Amino acid sequence: MASWQNSQGRENHKSLWEEPVKDRCLFCGSVEEIKCQMTIQFSEFEYNTGPCCKRCYSANAKQAQAI
Ligand SMILES: [Zn+2]
Repeated sequence: MASWQNSQGRENHKSLWEEPVKDRCLFCGSVEEIKCQMTIQFSEFEYNTGPCCKRCYSANAKQAQAI
């Protein structure tokens, strides 16, 4: 029985943002092309910073503009 036992090593290259990079989006949880790093604030003291994909980035940008 094969299973996904390999540890998921995160590779941090210096040139991470110089070309399209795919990572697990912090917002939607799927592996997408990452646009930038974003910070989600859950509450006054809880927040998390992680990769944000293009789709979620544009969605958030539209939300911000719509208000
Ligand atoms: Zn996303």
